[in-house]
Amino acid sequence: MIKLEASQLAARIKQDVQSAITQMARQPGLAAVRVGEDPASAVYVRNKIRACEEVGIRSEHHALPESTSTSALLDLIASLNVRDDVDGILTQLPLPSQIDETAIIEAIDPAKDVDGFHPVNVGRLGLGRPVFVPCTPAGIIELLDDAGVEIRGTNACVVGRSQIVGRPMAQLLLQRDATVTICHSRTRDLAAVTRNADLLVVAIGRAGFIRGEHIKPGATVIDVGMNRLTEPDEVRALFGNEAEKRLEVLARRGSTLVGDVHPAEAAEVAAKLTPVPGGVGLLTVAMLMKNTLKAATLRRR
Ligand code: NAP
Repeated sequence: MIKLEASQLAARIKQDVQSAITQMARQPGLAAVRVGEDPASAVYVRNKIRACEEVGIRSEHHALPESTSTSALLDLIASLNVRDDVDGILTQLPLPSQIDETAIIEAIDPAKDVDGFHPVNVGRLGLGRPVFVPCTPAGIIELLDDAGVEIRGTNACVVGRSQIVGRPMAQLLLQRDATVTICHSRTRDLAAVTRNADLLVVAIGRAGFIRGEHIKPGATVIDVGMNRLTEPDEVRALFGNEAEKRLEVLARRGSTLVGDVHPAEAAEVAAKLTPVPGGVGLLTVAMLMKNTLKAATLRRR
């Protein structure tokens, strides 16, 4: 089984963005908006800001209190929309429950919507005329191309139908001439469907849920899941003989990151598998840099 590591590709994408920026008259700018104290969101935003520094994108981090109202956040978005030095706006999801997430996403100027969540960008993707594509599925296509995995004509299955991963992933695979099936929590006999897939993309948020029986022998499996395990027994159940390294991480940090695919069982059946960590997650941030460069280029034409 080949591990589809993404670190070199992510570094290359960022280098390309960096060298394009050195040719630009003005630095692109990204505004990251975060509300509340969710620790995972804080880490994600920190990683995005760090990537901006690496590639030469000017960034600003708006960290708002947990109690922020929809109207206060709409005011901030409106001010970012009109600023010429801001090319991209991202609002880290999820937002606290009192905030109308849809209203916020729809308030972002589609020309600055570097996450690709605004209905205009979702619609363009559905029409096969994408401008800003959500970063995680866009990164997965780059990874498949880089690894020389055939998409055209294959049976592709996407498990999960979220707006940020599953649905745009299915659209991108369709555009690349795959025959696409989308599965979700109401799919009957999931394994019978996923076992037909030459290319299986899993984004459900359940540690190690996809087992050997779900995977067609020789398939390419893309594991989008990011789940934190804190119990040694859970780690042993997923990693079998290779659990030692993970148990060390667990002892050191109190948790370890795992995907939605059972790594030990998938390794027995799949031909290619993305690791967690070290796979899809690295590309998400790199693609955000690429989308921000694109926003800056399109806005200054
Ligand atoms: P989400 O919005 O929670 O959606 C989960 C999807 O999985 C839903 O469509 C749900 O079906 C489906 N699902 C849940 N249980 C299922 C089951 N037993 N069988 C089949 N389908 C099932 O999740 P998301 O935002 O797409 O994220 C999914 C995972 O990817 C999470 O672990 C997240 O942390 C990770 N993620 C990683 C990155 C990255 O950069 N690597 C980026 C984004 C997300 P219903 O629609 O029927 O409820």
